[in-house]
Amino acid sequence: MPTAKSIISYVEELAPLSLAMPGDPVGLQLGDPGAEIKKIIVSLDPDSKTIKAAIDLNAEMIVTHHPLFFNSLTGIDESLPQGALVAEAVRNHLNIYSAHTNFDIAPFGVTDQLVEILELPIKDKSVLEVTANEQLLKLVAYVPVGHEDIILEALAESGAGQIGRYSHCTFQVAGTGTFLPGEDTTPFIGSGGRLEKTDEIRLETILPVTHKKEVITSLLRIHPYEEVAYDLYPLDLEGEQIGMGLLLYLEKPVSIGELVANCSAKLPFCTPRFQTFGKKDFTKIALCGGSGGSMIETAGRQGAELFISGDFKYHDLKRAEQLGLALVDAGHVSTEMPGIYYLGRYLQERLKQDGFGTEVTIHSSFPTVWDLS
Ligand SMILES: [Zn+2]
Repeated sequence: MPTAKSIISYVEELAPLSLAMPGDPVGLQLGDPGAEIKKIIVSLDPDSKTIKAAIDLNAEMIVTHHPLFFNSLTGIDESLPQGALVAEAVRNHLNIYSAHTNFDIAPFGVTDQLVEILELPIKDKSVLEVTANEQLLKLVAYVPVGHEDIILEALAESGAGQIGRYSHCTFQVAGTGTFLPGEDTTPFIGSGGRLEKTDEIRLETILPVTHKKEVITSLLRIHPYEEVAYDLYPLDLEGEQIGMGLLLYLEKPVSIGELVANCSAKLPFCTPRFQTFGKKDFTKIALCGGSGGSMIETAGRQGAELFISGDFKYHDLKRAEQLGLALVDAGHVSTEMPGIYYLGRYLQERLKQDGFGTEVTIHSSFPTVWDLS
């Protein structure tokens, strides 16, 4: 049975902590990393409804997007709602883990899932607000001749060997590997106690640090040797830009009517409101799941014609008007829930891959949204 620590490592494979914005309280919010986990609830918020759902289901762990503790804790007063919530979670031995801005920024994270679900005709895309450049690593693996193609394919599939629009990028040079199998070994080539010299390929490739675990796991799984020789070097190169939100360049203009109807139809609990300041069609669209008000100037500066996000206020609309930027407010919950559904599916799949029967339930009923009826 997996521990909370193993579940955390699965989430961090998807959303590494290193991607989080400074000061964001991501990670284990409450609980014991060593606790055994049979049932997990994945939810947007660690609120009273989620905690009740976890208790009703006998779940030991809750994985959320929004953190339980935004500010440092000075006390748990059970006469106050937040204190009662924390006390209830502690009493029920719940483990609560949050992947917040790291999951916003991660490839396949909140904004990527929002883009995926809207199915817009995308020609190209770039990061809206750059927070960092991906760190890159060089992987050198030594593989027996004849196995280089299958290993290359596995490495490429797990995220190595991508340079710009080129995939499967490696450099390969032939050489001689030596090894002397020790006691209790079952060598793929040679036999115990005899020095072996064999034809090998030195295979070099590049990978983003965020894919390190996946690439090395893949190498170790596919490589035929009992003990795999490989090196990893940090590189002084700037990788792809990463950050908050995306700017989409569309193949053809999309009307405001289509965009709004698309948000209503595809995003959960979504009743969008919008203001285009007279413009009708759009080919350069900024998107950011959650609360996009602080990125209006960035979207305008980047030449976006329209910005889809949530939580826009009156003064956000005034700032957008000055920039000639149309806004679609599709709601905080609605723009982040596609990410939650993906996180739940990913965790269930990842647990299955490792042979665990732990159940993952996505908690999405009765979210806190405006009643517009
Ligand atoms: Zn949010």
